[in-house]
Amino acid sequence: MSKKIRACEICGKNDMPTTVCSSTIGGFSMNYCTICLAMGAEQRGYEDVIGVNYTYYDNETDMYKDGSSKSLEIITKSGKKFKTRNEFVKNNAKG
Ligand SMILES: [Zn+2]
Repeated sequence: MSKKIRACEICGKNDMPTTVCSSTIGGFSMNYCTICLAMGAEQRGYEDVIGVNYTYYDNETDMYKDGSSKSLEIITKSGKKFKTRNEFVKNNAKG
């Protein structure tokens, strides 16, 4: 029996465990993977509605970007840095 992981509503991937949390940009909850949650990323498309920019996941580049579209590195507790989400997942999978 394999454990089915619900896709993250921020990056759309289902390769990491997810958890439902309150959004930081509105009065609703989303399903976040551990990476999106750690990066503080929120679903795109609300910028105009709430009038502020926030961290999001960019599907085209597989990178997290801040409100000014600057790329953010994924930095682990041990200080390892990853440019893309996929890079982090691959390295994490190796253990
Ligand atoms: Zn995610």
